[in-house]
Amino acid sequence: MTVVDIQNVTFAYGDQPAVRDVSLAVEEGDLLGLIGPNGSGKTTLLHLMLGLLSPDSGRIELFGEPVDEFDDGERIGYVSQQATSGGGTMPVTVREAVTMGRFAHVGHGRIREEDREIVADAIETVGIEDLADRQVNQLSGGQRQRAYIARALASEADLLALDEPTVGVDAESRDAFYQLLESLNEDGITIILIEHDIGVVTDRANRIACINTELYHHGDTESFVESDALTEAYGATGQVVHHHH
Ligand code: ADP
Ligand code: MG
Repeated sequence: MTVVDIQNVTFAYGDQPAVRDVSLAVEEGDLLGLIGPNGSGKTTLLHLMLGLLSPDSGRIELFGEPVDEFDDGERIGYVSQQATSGGGTMPVTVREAVTMGRFAHVGHGRIREEDREIVADAIETVGIEDLADRQVNQLSGGQRQRAYIARALASEADLLALDEPTVGVDAESRDAFYQLLESLNEDGITIILIEHDIGVVTDRANRIACINTELYHHGDTESFVESDALTEAYGATGQVVHHHH
C-alpha cells in the first residue's frame, strides 16, 4: 500500500519555488530518509505531504485519499522541527502528554482503563517509564523526543513523520533513539525522517529522497550511495554533514 503519493508537486512561499516538480511515493513499511542542504525544501515537502500546506500545482494522496480530504489525523504522528528545542508551553506530565494521543480515539474525559494500558505500553516501548510523572518541559531533548514518539504510538499512528528529531540530542541518546525508530519500523510503522546527518540516514533508512528544491534521488539506499545525487544536490553549498562513529 502507498502511504504518501506525490505527483509533480510545486510550492512557492513567494515567487521562488521551495519545492519544484517533485514526484515520489512512500510505501507502507518504508523508513524514508529525506535529506538535502539547509533551506532545500525538506520541511516544506513534509508539510505538503501531511496536508499542512497546499501545493500550487500537482497532486498529493495520503493513505489513498486526496490529502485535503484526509481526516484520519490519528494515523499520523508528526514531530515538528521545533519539538526538541524549547520547553513546550503546556505544563503537563509525560503520562498526560502521551494520554493526549488517545483523545482522537475516545475524546476528552472518556479515557478508560484500556486507554491507560495503551499509554503505559507506549511509555514502556520508548523506555521512559521512570519519567512518566515528570513535566515534559523539564525533560532533555532526547527524553522529550521519546515522549513525543510515545504519544504517536498511543494514538496508534501508522505513519511517523519526524523533522530533524535529534537536533540538540547527545550522541549516545541519538543512537538509542535511532535504534528505537528501526525497531518501530520493523514492527510495521512507516517512517519519514528528515535528518541532516547523511551517515545516520544511509545507516538506518531503506529509502532515500534527496532534494534541493527539485528531487535529485528517490530510491533505495544502496542506489543512492552509488549515485552522484549527494554531490549534485549539495554541490553548490558544500555543507554535507558526515557521520563519525
Ligand atoms: P529545509 O527544511 O530543507 O531547511 P525549508 O522547507 O524550511 O527547508 O525551506 C525551503 C525554502 O523556503 C528556504 O529558502 C526557506 O527560506 C523558505 N521558507 C521556509 N519557510 C518559509 C516561510 N514560512 N515563508 C517564506 N519562506 C519560507
Ligand atoms: Mg527544515
